Amino acid sequence: MKEIILGKFGEIVLKGLNRSTFEDTLERNVRRRLKTLGKFEYSKAQSTLYIRPVDDDIDVDEVLDRVRKIFGIVKLARAVEVDKADFSAIEQTAVEYLKDKLMAVKTFKVASKRSDKSYPMGSPEICAQLGGYICEKFPHLTVDLHEPDLIVNIEIREAAYIHAGAEDGAGGIPVGTSGRAMLLLSGGIDSPVAGYMMAKRGVIVSAVHFESPPYTSERARMKVEKLAEIMTGYCGAINFHCVNFSAIQEAIRDHMPEEFFTIIMRRLMMEIAQRICESDGISCLITGESLGQVASQTMAAMVCTDNACRMPVFRPLIGMDKSEIVAISRNIGTFETSIEPYEDCCTVFTPKHPKTKPVLQDVLDAQSGFDFEDMIQQAVAEHKRYTIYKN
Ligand code: ATP
Ligand code: MG
Repeated sequence: MKEIILGKFGEIVLKGLNRSTFEDTLERNVRRRLKTLGKFEYSKAQSTLYIRPVDDDIDVDEVLDRVRKIFGIVKLARAVEVDKADFSAIEQTAVEYLKDKLMAVKTFKVASKRSDKSYPMGSPEICAQLGGYICEKFPHLTVDLHEPDLIVNIEIREAAYIHAGAEDGAGGIPVGTSGRAMLLLSGGIDSPVAGYMMAKRGVIVSAVHFESPPYTSERARMKVEKLAEIMTGYCGAINFHCVNFSAIQEAIRDHMPEEFFTIIMRRLMMEIAQRICESDGISCLITGESLGQVASQTMAAMVCTDNACRMPVFRPLIGMDKSEIVAISRNIGTFETSIEPYEDCCTVFTPKHPKTKPVLQDVLDAQSGFDFEDMIQQAVAEHKRYTIYKN
């Protein structure tokens, strides 16, 4: 029996005139994510994307795993499609399709939705008739309208769709409907979550990572690439930029006051990230900062960091506790990789007593004591760029 996948659109149904752009972007994203699994047919109607596997050997579990991560879909269900004109076919198909599930429970109910208002049977009649048929075929079952073990759903649309319940999708709006931004991606817990959250709001996420060999290892970079790869399940392909930051960090160590090491390092990261953005036509940055989490994330420190920024900086985790960030990280599958114990360039040359309330003018005065420009240009010119994509 051939299953299809129903993906229900979320917020995009609110988008008025832009709605078709949102829906088309979503369909394109789904096509791209499923392409390697075989051939599918797609159609859209009544705020639902219908995904019909064409090839017989398509792994529907894998399809669901992928669709679950696609932003713009709030609910998804695997279902069978039956000609709605033939109610006895609906009955037989429902019983055949759900027999294992019906065998495994004691109580059930039928829930019916009728978006085709011209359908000759009303919802109560559909439920009563299909419910009666199921009881006949599975005498061990009783109907429980309040707390059933299983709900048999039947939706009357262009055809009849039968399924055992929809699950939550990724929510959000389709990636590609909100512009592009550059995520500063470390190997930590926070920044992959920040990228995920912005992708959820429709942003195409690129990533820039700063490494400082030999202080940071090849393994540390591979860990960050692996994080980016996990993120692609949600974000789609990621343009990944890897910047060698060693010379700049050594210059900071040698020429800047220790108490400002981190803040100046962050200002220079922002500067380099922006230059890469400018040449890529990107106009916003994303970081995984959360207010007060560490010395460089106090409000005063952010004032100093943002002074080096010509672009808006999105900090989607700004008001979140670590435990909340960890919960998302576990949920999206980045946590186990994030906690692998590799060094980050931020942990190289860390000051013993970083200033938690740096004064901007003091930082500017310190930074003006050394000319970083040539090093910045070199780091930008020599940075490596590649695309990370899993499927
Ligand atoms: P994370 O878990 O994201 O590493 P963190 O709490 O360790 O966060 P910091 O090390 O202060 O915080 O970094 C703050 C933010 O700066 C990170 O969320 C990330 O956006 C950016 N960042 C830090 N290190 C790097 C790096 N090596 N390359 C790119 N961005 C970085
Ligand atoms: Mg970090």
